[in-house]
Amino acid sequence: MSLLSVVIPSYNEEGNIKRTSEVISGILENASINYELIFVSDGSKDGTYAAICEQAKANPKVKGIEFSRNFGKEAAIFAGLGQAKGDVVAVLDCDLQHPAEKLVDMYKLWEEGYEVIEGVKSKRGKEGLIHKMFVGIFYGIMSSLMKIDMNSTSDYKMLDRKVVDVLLGLKEKNTFFRALTFWAGFKSIRLEYEVQDRKIGKSKWSFAGLCRYAISNTTSFTTVPLKLVSTLGWTSILCSIIVGVDTLYNFFSGKAADGFTTVILLLLLIGGCIMISLGIIGHYIGRIYEEVKGRPTYIISNRTDNM
Ligand code: UDP
Ligand code: MG
Repeated sequence: MSLLSVVIPSYNEEGNIKRTSEVISGILENASINYELIFVSDGSKDGTYAAICEQAKANPKVKGIEFSRNFGKEAAIFAGLGQAKGDVVAVLDCDLQHPAEKLVDMYKLWEEGYEVIEGVKSKRGKEGLIHKMFVGIFYGIMSSLMKIDMNSTSDYKMLDRKVVDVLLGLKEKNTFFRALTFWAGFKSIRLEYEVQDRKIGKSKWSFAGLCRYAISNTTSFTTVPLKLVSTLGWTSILCSIIVGVDTLYNFFSGKAADGFTTVILLLLLIGGCIMISLGIIGHYIGRIYEEVKGRPTYIISNRTDNM
């Protein structure tokens, strides 16, 4: 009988573990699917790991690992994938914002032969207006840079063992799970779901966190910003030819003293462009530096006895 592994990244989710574990187990048992739940406590500061251990005692199909500190959701997902023994592996959030009933539909699609089942948000959950606006801009930019519709895609997915092995075999450290499944290809299908409201605890995202996430994912997934730098360079060269001709014309017609404002504006503009370009290149060098160091993306400090 096939085994379904469900990977659940959890950071400070002490109040959610019991409910999530019971809800998912219930649904999968009802559907007679053979499963294991793998909770990954991402260096939680509350009793998340203790709650996982408690669930593991109550139900041997529930397993868990703990990180030595907070390494981020990406690391937690990949650690879970690495521990999963299933023929098919699903990833979903610990706050049940990803409706667990869909696991059964996803599993059916997998049985039909699909290798990547992408959860697609049909409706985003309740979010503040500013948050919504920011997320909109953020995903708009990322989508156009990566050529993947980031607004509706999510980390809620089910992957065949073949796909999981491909992802685990990647040498890069700065992974972007959501986009990598598109990159990997395979026989895939989209499955719509409605984002549920978070019932317990708060979202872990801050404004600064989202900014970092955007920069980190864009630089790890695409080199388009680097190409923008040269576009910027060519644009300023074009502009300087136009301004240059004008300046020479003024010089030869004896009106050279004018144009001090233009000089200041040009200095500011070009200075700004150079700084931004250096910044973009800097981000990529940072990425390369991190990759070259080859440090592990996470450190496991504890695991439940059945793991
Ligand atoms: N998460 C994690 N590590 C982190 C931040 C979040 O493992 O550093 C987990 C979190 O426990 C949850 C999932 O990632 O299961 C999504 O996080 P959250 O609900 O805070 O994000 P949102 O749903 O608002 O995008
Ligand atoms: Mg959430």
